[in-house]
Amino acid sequence: SRRIEMGTANNDEIGRLSNTLNELLARLDKAFYRQKQFTADASHELRTPIAVIRAQVEEVLDKRKVTNEEYHEVLIAIKKQVEHMGNLVSQMLMLSRADDNQTNIEKESFDLDFLISVLIEEMHSIAQSKNIVLKKELANANEPLIIEADMSLITQLLLNLIDNAIKYSYSDGIVIIKANMMSKYVKIDVIDQGPGISAEHLQNIFERFYRVDKSRSRKEGGSGLGLSICRWIVEAHNGKITVDSQVGKGTSFSVYLPK
Ligand code: ADP
Repeated sequence: SRRIEMGTANNDEIGRLSNTLNELLARLDKAFYRQKQFTADASHELRTPIAVIRAQVEEVLDKRKVTNEEYHEVLIAIKKQVEHMGNLVSQMLMLSRADDNQTNIEKESFDLDFLISVLIEEMHSIAQSKNIVLKKELANANEPLIIEADMSLITQLLLNLIDNAIKYSYSDGIVIIKANMMSKYVKIDVIDQGPGISAEHLQNIFERFYRVDKSRSRKEGGSGLGLSICRWIVEAHNGKITVDSQVGKGTSFSVYLPK
């Protein structure tokens, strides 16, 4: 950055200084706006489950007689909403810590091949409920896939991507998790044969709270924060996440982590 010396500043320098100041102001404005938008969206997201809980409780309170079965149903509905709110709040906390650079990345060496197998095992029953097959594919099966990264964050990243691939896929599909050790980075792809995402939406899906189909996502327990968390995790590792999608064919997310 330039320092303008008093007395020696000419018009050129003042012009440049004012440009710089204006750019700074525009950036601040944008940051303020984003913060405001985040708070507004978050409040809105939390209002929905609260409204559902209130309606359920009021319905029971208004009845003269309530059977055990009805009580049970209401409690289950409330539990679902409370779980949703819990997820939402922990995702929001994670992003707000990320904004403040408060999250420490704790890198360690681990076997990505093994982690993918564990995650496939973990997601097995969710996948099976839609008759979806989860498949691991290694580019070089002989080469060990040891990477240096924050294992719990990479776990969360992959879980988010695999969970989305299952959530948005049709029944009887296949989801492939591919890993490829390249010279400078490791590439991980999560590929599904779901409905795909059209170009106009594709550019926005990493934005906070952005969802292509709000009611669909909500029904699946989504918050619209998953992919923004993914992007943050990847960037915190100095990596890159890209998405490729064709409507009617499927979607594939690619994560590049530097070695
Ligand atoms: P959500 O909690 O809604 O899943 P995400 O941030 O994880 O939020 O994803 C944002 C949106 O991107 C989703 O609501 C969905 O519309 C779209 N999306 C994400 N992954 C996929 C996928 N594999 N196939 C189709 N659409 C997807």
